[in-house]
Amino acid sequence: MLETLRRITQEVNVAQNLEAALNIIVQRVKQFMGVDVCSVFLLDRSDQRYVLMATDGLNPESVGRVRLANDRGLVSYVARRAEAINLGNAPDHPQFCYFPETGEEQYHAFLGVPIIHHRQVLGVLVVQSHDQHRFDDDNENFLITVAAQLAGAIAHADASGGIEGLRGATQPVKDSRPLQGLPGAPGVGLGTARVVFPSTDINAVPDRDVGNVKKEVAAFEHALQLVREDIKALSSRFIETLPSEDLALFDAYLLMLDSESFIGVTRERIVAGNWAPGALRETVLEHEKLFKDMDDPYLRERGDDIRDLGRRILERLFQASTGQKDYPDDTILVGEEITATMLAEVPPSKLKAVVSVRGSRTSHVAILARALNIPAVMGTEDLPVSRVDGLQLIADGYSGRVYITPSETIKIEFQRLADEELALSDELKELKELPAETQDGHKILLYVNTGLLSDISPAHDSGAEGVGLYRTEFPFMIRQRFPGEEEQRKIYREVLESFAPKPVILRTLDVGGDKALPYFPITEENPFLGWRGIRITLDHPEIFLVQVRAMIRASVGLNNMNILLPMISDVGELNDALGLIHQAYAEILEEGEEVVMPKVGVMIEVPSAVYQAGSLARRVDFLSIGTNDLTQYLLAVDRNNSRVAELYDSMHPAVIRAMIQVVESARVHGKPVSVCGEMAGDPAAAILLVGMGMDSLSMSVSSLPKVKWVIRNLTRERAREILSEVLLMEDVRSIRQHLNSILEESGMGGLVRAGK
Ligand code: PEP
Ligand code: MG
Repeated sequence: MLETLRRITQEVNVAQNLEAALNIIVQRVKQFMGVDVCSVFLLDRSDQRYVLMATDGLNPESVGRVRLANDRGLVSYVARRAEAINLGNAPDHPQFCYFPETGEEQYHAFLGVPIIHHRQVLGVLVVQSHDQHRFDDDNENFLITVAAQLAGAIAHADASGGIEGLRGATQPVKDSRPLQGLPGAPGVGLGTARVVFPSTDINAVPDRDVGNVKKEVAAFEHALQLVREDIKALSSRFIETLPSEDLALFDAYLLMLDSESFIGVTRERIVAGNWAPGALRETVLEHEKLFKDMDDPYLRERGDDIRDLGRRILERLFQASTGQKDYPDDTILVGEEITATMLAEVPPSKLKAVVSVRGSRTSHVAILARALNIPAVMGTEDLPVSRVDGLQLIADGYSGRVYITPSETIKIEFQRLADEELALSDELKELKELPAETQDGHKILLYVNTGLLSDISPAHDSGAEGVGLYRTEFPFMIRQRFPGEEEQRKIYREVLESFAPKPVILRTLDVGGDKALPYFPITEENPFLGWRGIRITLDHPEIFLVQVRAMIRASVGLNNMNILLPMISDVGELNDALGLIHQAYAEILEEGEEVVMPKVGVMIEVPSAVYQAGSLARRVDFLSIGTNDLTQYLLAVDRNNSRVAELYDSMHPAVIRAMIQVVESARVHGKPVSVCGEMAGDPAAAILLVGMGMDSLSMSVSSLPKVKWVIRNLTRERAREILSEVLLMEDVRSIRQHLNSILEESGMGGLVRAGK
């Protein structure tokens, strides 16, 4: 059964469109279960009817014609109840309703299971048989498993189906339904999709219209020639050692490289307008599937050879071309998993938005997008990445929606919103020189979060009071080895100098979790609960001491450097870290440099630190709440997992209460508290943070003017009142709605939605 499921899923995943995917499902399920009919009905959202989309057994003419109102018939009944219905004799059921055009009068046994994706019923999968008997439990459970397994693939194919055929079409669809992802970075971007992908993954290669077919065919031929030579070279290397039957594999590769069915077909696909890597992907997946479906185990293995050959050709194609690197002037960067380096490769003037299938608001690439003031939508799980390259897209970073080939009306509307955003950000620039002070004269220090050197200049222009969080892992990530003391000193010096005399808070290395160093791989089952942040650096004092020494020495003569310790979950860790910092300081003094002992702070980002905030505050100079991790650990929701991202919200009542507790504990010891997680840059949350009595907030440059605007429009008294109102609310949705409507009523709605 598992094997059958695996095969169906594999076939559905590579199906060209929704129709093909559904036909595969009905045929395979009917065959495997030995039933007389298998059909799929999907919900048409425009009129809320269930449409017969594919059938093996009913009259094929009725496909697309049978449309059931959502309160009629057994299919709708299954969908309404969102559970399986298994009947020995369907006509006896009160909800039964008969559709003569399908020819279903001859069938009695009926088993229908809902197809549910992200809590939404997409449709119903039905099997029927002539005789009167209930399907047994095995059959029922199999069908439920098929429907659950395939729901994602169907949703995906549905989205691709919607745009299939648009490539090359002159008319966009009138009402393209937006895809729902997650808000990543605020703003609205309109432009042309440019799909980026890791060049080693053939599945990730998108389709792309080719400009010059002749040139593309020539590049393909050239790549083939290089691969032929590679294989001949490999073969001759093994000629002495391998028996001739094994060497035959190389000959088989060479034959494939000349075969009409493999190479000829790919060439035809290029001539039809797809670029060579896209054409190659189609052929490889098609051939791989053919082999994998074969019963003979030897032939099944040949599917892997096809993939290997495809990968070799692809590598050669990419070596020769720079195709991946040319970006349209209005690039919307799209990918399965956009990384910080993929984003950094696009010239900033060309980048209009980012859309990533994986990740969420607190993924580091979203944080980077916010720092660069680029709208981002994350977690668009149903986006058919391989089919959108070159298409027009709109990314709404507030609502997390993506519109594919939007109609003219939608485009005009979003262009208007984007213009308004620009006007709003121009207006906000005027706040630059003004303090972040409430109307009753209470000042909150606004700092910026940085970590990329390119961040420094915009951070300067923003009117920030300093750097509240400098993430030192970025300079570590872009190297091939740990940077030495002098290398690090120079990097930190640049930041400290450019902000002096304003304070800069340098955080010690916080790798692990979702931040890996290429030269220090950590493989763990559960990395966010594993070796991360201070846990790694305390286990490697040689790395920690080098970093702390570099920080202290970078501050000579400026004395504006503060140290922040990440992921502290225990007082013992803090004692050890403080011991090492004092050691580094004493060493440098002994070496004769005139340095001052920096202020040291602790990040409060795990629940144990919340409960021990008093003990921690007593030992250090300040606390800084890292709401990104604190939310993840308090709510037990992975900050990068788009499947659970709807549960991830720092305005959850539990997070708010934890933060209040931290402020109260710090007050007892007279220590200042800051927030440096993404929550600090959320204009709606800023109201609560002022109400809690935070001394400073640190955020991405692009959020700073927005938060300042909110603070200048509030009194501290009003912020406290709002916080008490929010404390009476028991769920995050009501809290957000309440704060959004307060912003809307005070004319600041443009901060939390598109437009002004
Ligand atoms: C946080 O966890 O809130 C934080 C600021 O650190 P990072 O996002 O780098 O984990
Ligand atoms: Mg953190």
